[in-house]
Amino acid sequence: MDNKDYIADIGLEVHVELATRSKMFCSCAVVDTTIAEPNSSVCEVCMGMPGTLPVINQKAVELAIKAALALNCEVHKTSIFARKNYFYPDLPKGYQISQYEEPLATNGFLKIRTSEGIKTIRVRRAHLEEDTGKLTHIEKDGQSYSLVDLNRAGVPLLEIVSEPDMHSVEDVRSYARELRLLLRWLGVSSGDMEKGSMRFEANLSMRPTDSDKLGTRVEIKNLNSFRAMEQAILYQMDIQRETLVKGKEVKQQTLGWSESENRTFAQRSKEEANDYRYFPEPDLPPLVVEKAWLESIKKAMPALPDKERERYAEEYSLIQEDIERLMEDKAVHDYFEACMKVAPHLAPKHITNWLFSDLFAWLNANDKPFEELHLSPDGFTRLISL
Ligand code: ADP
Ligand code: MG
Ligand code: ZN
Repeated sequence: MDNKDYIADIGLEVHVELATRSKMFCSCAVVDTTIAEPNSSVCEVCMGMPGTLPVINQKAVELAIKAALALNCEVHKTSIFARKNYFYPDLPKGYQISQYEEPLATNGFLKIRTSEGIKTIRVRRAHLEEDTGKLTHIEKDGQSYSLVDLNRAGVPLLEIVSEPDMHSVEDVRSYARELRLLLRWLGVSSGDMEKGSMRFEANLSMRPTDSDKLGTRVEIKNLNSFRAMEQAILYQMDIQRETLVKGKEVKQQTLGWSESENRTFAQRSKEEANDYRYFPEPDLPPLVVEKAWLESIKKAMPALPDKERERYAEEYSLIQEDIERLMEDKAVHDYFEACMKVAPHLAPKHITNWLFSDLFAWLNANDKPFEELHLSPDGFTRLISL
């Protein structure tokens, strides 16, 4: 038994579905898999038929570059697609096309706001890959079997991997929320967790506070909501602390999270990278991002939330709470901006007051999303002026 204090080190791997109209390596439409008829948007390529060839979706690369730039990453001129070999019934090719040794982007960071102030979380890498299909396990008439839906197979994914720079659930929450806000802001992803457009894996270890050597980690997979992620991390922090206090060793392993039982469970012991026998995808050339293209994407980037937060506080003297509400949805932010432009005589605070009280109340009462507001910024500000 010891009475040392322990601190957690947490790194996140975040998978986001990119908001493209077609899949990563074929022209099949990306459909809402919660609604679409199973296997209605599939072709030879995403069903892994022999003799087919993948073709890179340029829009997916563009969205990934936008995200990488917003995360302050270095975007590499050349990156390489690799085969990650493993068998699973929802992976018809028997491998997933991903990026491994030479990813699209590396070495970035994301600033997060916490009760302890602003923290910088380093982003190790961001790479492109394709999603797998979906299995549904059925128990019926004493039989059990699985159904496979390949509508999701080949949907473009961006995996964003952080360094283990988070130390609490609050850090993790703040990172995940800021990341989602950024991706939605840029139109990179819907970030809709209920539809699986954003999924988390948390890597967590604990070490004595007086040591700076990272402890042995566990990886918790398939965390599909902020809540699940927070609960799973809290749960594992307790277990690991208990293990270490007893003088025992944490076993490196991959865990799943059971929402209903509120606990983690062992999935398999941690596979090694060489189990995947990664090798360069022979059917795809290296991905080359020309400088001119990168520059044009950079130029077209909108002002990012952090910059806007600063400006709103300094120029408009808005309070933190109102600023955050403007940041939550870029459409709302853009509407506010348009109001400021057409009615410079109005105080910013005056506009946000009307926006968040009367206008939002009216939308709520009429069960309308913001996109269905048919009141122009000009009309709205004239109304306020009256
Ligand atoms: P893998 O690809 O096998 O999952 P990586 O080494 O690429 O492993 O790391 C994945 C994630 O695990 C990263 O987010 C990283 O920050 C985090 N990580 C690595 N080592 C530790 C550790 N000792 N404690 C907590 N997180 C860690
Ligand atoms: Mg991992
Ligand atoms: Zn297809």
